[in-house]
Amino acid sequence: MQTVNRVDPLRTAVAALRADGPLALVPTMGALHEGHLTLVREARNRAAHVAVSIFVNPRQFGANEDLGKYPRQLAADSALLEAEGVSLLWAPEAAVMYPAGYATNISVAGVSAGLCGAARPGHFDGVATVVCKLFNQVQPDLALFGEKDWQQLAVIRRMTRDLDLAAPQADAIVGVPTVREADGLAMSSRNAFLSPDDRANAASLPKAMRAAIAAAKRGSSLTEAETALNSALLGGGFSSVDYAEFRDAASLERLERLGDRPARLLVAARIGGTRLIDNMPV
Ligand code: AMP
Repeated sequence: MQTVNRVDPLRTAVAALRADGPLALVPTMGALHEGHLTLVREARNRAAHVAVSIFVNPRQFGANEDLGKYPRQLAADSALLEAEGVSLLWAPEAAVMYPAGYATNISVAGVSAGLCGAARPGHFDGVATVVCKLFNQVQPDLALFGEKDWQQLAVIRRMTRDLDLAAPQADAIVGVPTVREADGLAMSSRNAFLSPDDRANAASLPKAMRAAIAAAKRGSSLTEAETALNSALLGGGFSSVDYAEFRDAASLERLERLGDRPARLLVAARIGGTRLIDNMPV
């Protein structure tokens, strides 16, 4: 595995890999867990070579968020990726990604509004901007993202389509189902912030979500199911709920009732100062 942290050597490395067959990109912020490694394995199944980026993107963190304390463990991550057969690790510093004078922002309307877009103003501009740059830097044939970040996946698909990006094309953005711990909690680099008590209570999130989906399918109104979910989280050790909503799975529009089109339940809630997100198909 080759590790590069400047754009010129990246271009040279990428050209050599692409000459050898399809190249897949897995963008990450590091602190890698089984969720990330599942994306890497899926990428290896689909392409001749896999490039992974590790970049804690300052533009997607709000002023009062956890940028400063976000876990950074490049040496351990690098060993994990090497063992998975990754060909290229792209690990730039912020000053390489956003050099002095950097002035461009990408903003995706519609799917970015509401949910995490409302709770974290500017977050999806930061995501769209860095992912567009990563796509232009690596020019992968395909790119893999976790369904864990369902709204992010929708934003990236929209951006790729709207900007007519060629590498990857919109239909080569692959979503990978969420990988969970044994008790159902979605794997996340932020789970490391949880105290043992909070970690145990956090399992109430997927449990309460499954109960809300079952209630909605039994014919309970979506508002009732959302209200019950909210109460279950606050009763289960969460200190606040940013949102707990049934939405159209593709457009992310609010739903009054379940219909013919796929629906998704999306939640963001805080426990012990850590904000967790999760989503499930209905
Ligand atoms: P992050 O490092 O949190 O930015 O995540 C990098 C990529 O891994 C994103 O596409 C995430 O959606 C994906 N990812 C994170 N956690 C999981 C998980 N538990 N299961 C599947 N994919 C995940």
